[in-house]
Amino acid sequence: MAENREARIAPHMVVIPWLAQGHLIPMLDLARLLATAGANVTVITTAANVPLSTSPCPASLRFCVIPFPCPSLTGLPPGCENIDSLPTHRLAGPFYSAAKLLRGRIEHLLLHGLSPLRPPSCLLFGIGFPWLASLARDVLPIPRLVFHGFSSFTHLASHYLHACKTHERAYNFFLPGLPHKVEITRSKLPVFFDKASEVRSVYEEIREGEVAADGVVVNSFEELEPKYAAMFAEATGKKVWTVGPVSMCQREKLDVGLRGRKGSSGVDVDRCKRWLDDREIGSVVYVSFGSMGRLEPEQTVELGMGLVMSGWAFMWVVREGAPPPPVELEGVGERGIAVRGWSPQLMVLSHAALGGFLTHCGWNSVVEGVAAGVPMVTWPLGADQYLNEKLVVEVLKVGVEVGGRKEDEGLVRREEVARAVERVMGRGEEGNEMRRRAKELADKARRAMERSGSSGLSLAQLIHDVACWPV
Ligand code: UDP
Repeated sequence: MAENREARIAPHMVVIPWLAQGHLIPMLDLARLLATAGANVTVITTAANVPLSTSPCPASLRFCVIPFPCPSLTGLPPGCENIDSLPTHRLAGPFYSAAKLLRGRIEHLLLHGLSPLRPPSCLLFGIGFPWLASLARDVLPIPRLVFHGFSSFTHLASHYLHACKTHERAYNFFLPGLPHKVEITRSKLPVFFDKASEVRSVYEEIREGEVAADGVVVNSFEELEPKYAAMFAEATGKKVWTVGPVSMCQREKLDVGLRGRKGSSGVDVDRCKRWLDDREIGSVVYVSFGSMGRLEPEQTVELGMGLVMSGWAFMWVVREGAPPPPVELEGVGERGIAVRGWSPQLMVLSHAALGGFLTHCGWNSVVEGVAAGVPMVTWPLGADQYLNEKLVVEVLKVGVEVGGRKEDEGLVRREEVARAVERVMGRGEEGNEMRRRAKELADKARRAMERSGSSGLSLAQLIHDVACWPV
């Protein structure tokens, strides 16, 4: 097979992030890392999804903006160019269909429109664009790589789970690193295992995209999940590059201003920083359910009252449109702060005042918490989050469970919230041990991202593999 020698000098990698913050953010970080490491990178996305600030942005990274199909074609409200700007989750299916209308433009760009750069040497696509994996190979003979935003643990678990019988109520399987079988009930599996899901066909397409892809890029690091990436690669026969935590790229800590969030009131970075600066070291628990997660009103009250009961200071991000924190919280004065909308999460997690992170266990949040050396209280809501929780609590032992109940399992009571927060924040043996482990992982994350670290080397290998891909 001939080797693409010319491209070996500096491959041209085309990155097409899926249009949801939890995918867009790490893929843009990854694009910066690739560009800094020597690749030419073009990110194709829509206007509302281009970051407001791209500094420091290497010259070899450029954005190619395409229009999102207009509301008369999609039936979506105007301005919705990102899953988390949708007024309701019910529009996720129509949004996915709308994104398919980008196909013609993307294909045209890939085949004819990215001059003056050389033709693409590789396509790195987010999972919401599985049809990119099937672009005619004879027309575009380049590797197609997929980025899911999952952990290696979840990739591997999903691989086993796909082989399980789907009528079972609970799934049991062994994963290395765990002394016992993993048990997970069907209601807590990622939604793509749910045969009755409204968006079942979407997940089937996504799975087909995965199968058709030539390789998988993972936002994790070898030392965090030793062997899982290799086992996943072996199980699927695909190449896997583990290149994270990508949030430790050259992105400025405050560069959080992504557009595309309808009605977003912006990020009050100064207010958050000032408030944290006034708190004692390790005294604050940060509470966030990611870009889309929200609790029901009654559960919101229990969470709020639990935070108050814990006695620790807290910063709580409350999404626009989510139930407001209970009025009783006003009584705690300066000890608690609610951030409406969007928080500068990387800055918050790296602040010395931070002692713990109550998280929905979105993979970006987990990996960002790990990179910051912060122990966690886990409260998964769906998707891959229940599997991430298992990794955090049972394998890495840097967190304790609190939420994660399905509707039929009842509310998480305030006493349980307070107890879990205290276990993580407290200065007893358990808290100290978790903090020690979390700091150890953060050190490993930092070393992994060095040029000679596991992720640094994997990133260089990815660029090399793409440059030398047999065509
Ligand atoms: N994020 C943020 N501020 C917020 C909420 C989220 O900066 O108020 C970022 C967070 O740092 C992470 C991403 O948004 O990079 C959320 O991704 P994750 O996988 O944790 O959750 P998802 O939103 O996909 O459920």
